[in-house]
Amino acid sequence: MQYYSTNGNSPKVSLQEAVIHGLASDKGLFMPEVIPTIPKAFFNNIAEMSLQDIAYVVANTLFGQDVESEILKQIVNETLNFDIPLVHVAENRYSLELFHGPTLAFKDVGARFMARLLGYFNKEKGKSDVNVLVATSGDTGSAVANGFLNVPGVRVFVLYPKGKVSKIQEAQFTTLGANITALEVNGTFDDCQALVKNAFIDKDLNEKMQLTSANSINVARFLPQMFYYFYAYAQLAHMGKSLDNIVISVPSGNFGNITAGLIGKRMGLPIKRFIAANNRNDIFFQYLLTGKYTPRPSIATIANAMDVGAPSNFARILDLYEQSHDAIATEISGCTYTDEEIAETLKATYDKTGYLLDPHGAVGYRSLLENLKDNEIGIFLETAHPAKFKDTVEGIIQKEVKIPNKLAEFMKGTKSTVKMSSAFPAFKKYLMNV
Ligand SMILES: *Cc1c(COP(=O)(O)O)cnc(C)c1O
Repeated sequence: MQYYSTNGNSPKVSLQEAVIHGLASDKGLFMPEVIPTIPKAFFNNIAEMSLQDIAYVVANTLFGQDVESEILKQIVNETLNFDIPLVHVAENRYSLELFHGPTLAFKDVGARFMARLLGYFNKEKGKSDVNVLVATSGDTGSAVANGFLNVPGVRVFVLYPKGKVSKIQEAQFTTLGANITALEVNGTFDDCQALVKNAFIDKDLNEKMQLTSANSINVARFLPQMFYYFYAYAQLAHMGKSLDNIVISVPSGNFGNITAGLIGKRMGLPIKRFIAANNRNDIFFQYLLTGKYTPRPSIATIANAMDVGAPSNFARILDLYEQSHDAIATEISGCTYTDEEIAETLKATYDKTGYLLDPHGAVGYRSLLENLKDNEIGIFLETAHPAKFKDTVEGIIQKEVKIPNKLAEFMKGTKSTVKMSSAFPAFKKYLMNV
């Protein structure tokens, strides 16, 4: 299958090229040329299928022309070596817990899949190592570093702002060693991002080494996120629930996660409608109201992984609905909540049901409380484990939040970083000499 650019000014490329390059040469995002449909019969048996088996069918439908089936099966199985349970929270309202992977956030799924596919394609091409550069304010770095750990032929450089990520987050990408290098940048997250962007356009560096990014613009990172939408449906089917009016609410920042769900629906997954749940960075919500897309600088909130002022996957949503605001607004509704509302939902839900949300999941859950109709079944994506935001969550519920063993293990490792200035020449010199 070929992939085209949402900007329409660069040639179509193979999956391999799309994964290795990340972004199209005209700076657009890659989209699959055809969105294949899954045969209806698949849904007759889905209730009894495992996550891995469902994911393989979906992956094979999308990538089957481009990756040998045995390899694809292995990539899917290695990616999804943890469960993604659908948990009942209140009447007709369920949490899809995406936090059972190694770094306790949904980004594990896309990062693990992309790492393995990139490793495979690069080996096939017989090229030198691929170097993944990733700037992080916390969560992306940990998912990418752990996803790519020990994948042959791939080296990862995580750039993070010194002193500006939590101890838990830092431990998840500075203690790994092997093919993962953490660069502790004397500056802000924006400085880290600028270093990465400058590296991608630097002629000398690109001649010397293969560089790529691992954020959700990469098709191999965002598309696999649709696997768990199908699995959520399967779990409702397994519970014997009505499957006609399913609503899925997605706490959204860069909109990669929800876009994967929308494409899943296009492939045949029977979802009635989606809710894009925003914190105060509500650019998409404003677009739904006004038809105008107006990016603006992000503001800090307690659901900080959604603090995005210019959602990168918006271009894919426009493309998917042929730029039609009507079509988009028919399929997706929106909402926007303040920190106070997020905190209130987190606390009230914990007090009433015993279910502990994280601040991002709380945005999704609140939208189900406010928007779900009587005949609908609502699922929200619980995108991270509450312990990842320990201080915030403890401040809200006034109780200690236990750190899961998996997270605590990282804290035992030895931190190892390379200190880096925020000036590009120093970063370039370092890369030229690794
Ligand atoms: C990245 C992230 C989000 C936002 O996902 P997008 O795909 O960027 O919309 C939501 N919650 C958590 C915990 C995240 O890490």
